[in-house]
Amino acid sequence: MSYLTNIRIFGFLLIFVFSGLLIYSLLVNLSKRNKFLAAAFNNRHIFRLFTVLLTIIFLLILGNFYVYNGFDYQPDIFRKGSRSSNYVALTFDDGPSPEYTPLILDILKEKNVEATFFMVGKHVEKYPEVAKQVAEDGHEIGNHTYDHLNIPTLKFNDLTKQILLTNRVIHHVTDKKVSYLRPPRGMYDARYRRLAHLLGQEIVLWTISGQDWRSSTSARAIVKRIVTKAKGGEIILLHDSGALIKDEGGNHRALLIALPEIIDGLRAKGLEIVPLKTLLEEAQGEDISHLELNLIE
Ligand SMILES: [Zn+2]
Repeated sequence: MSYLTNIRIFGFLLIFVFSGLLIYSLLVNLSKRNKFLAAAFNNRHIFRLFTVLLTIIFLLILGNFYVYNGFDYQPDIFRKGSRSSNYVALTFDDGPSPEYTPLILDILKEKNVEATFFMVGKHVEKYPEVAKQVAEDGHEIGNHTYDHLNIPTLKFNDLTKQILLTNRVIHHVTDKKVSYLRPPRGMYDARYRRLAHLLGQEIVLWTISGQDWRSSTSARAIVKRIVTKAKGGEIILLHDSGALIKDEGGNHRALLIALPEIIDGLRAKGLEIVPLKTLLEEAQGEDISHLELNLIE
């Protein structure tokens, strides 16, 4: 493991212990004031277990916030389109897959939808014909790293290799320029953002996940998750390959049943499914047009 990985794991443990202590002291204080809570926490083991559980939940919420919102001003990361438009975009991660991608392409063609496929470099190399078909059907192709690795724990050399190699493989196979990057599991860091900037590529995350990678999910649940919530500006995350731990394969039959209903459901709500390019043109950073920029005489 690299030095950086060790430092980050150590940092994470520190945050875990610190949050745990904070939650522990909060619970101790609360149980002093509330006799029901005090009775419930009479057992020290239960009290400790509860603290650990609350800490894990707290950190999961924090992680979720980082993926969906970020912790500072991040105009270089696209998370959504314009909320005042009726545009939404469909994205498919982790492919291409010889089993599912062609069937997804058939549905998209029948419904006349242009989508974006964030491909894993090694899968493009393994199934070049499928990747080529995606491009020939007019869909956009994005870079989802070469090995589907977590960005923040990679050494800088490996991080660069993961991005550059994938750009090259996609370009070589599909003859398409790669404009978009998406980090696996939505985990990015400053080095990734800097590299994207240098390469002139946009980092694109998502607003709604179909959670279609879950092996236990049903088509109905996927449709419901997406269509009920969707409004203008949504970037919708789906998968044509991969599962919870595996980066390839998985069972995506539920998505095949759900996809036509998702498309019809979005359209029935008055939303227009557009390519990412169109959606992002409408997305605006912070409006600074009212500022007097001519400050230096
Ligand atoms: Zn992925």
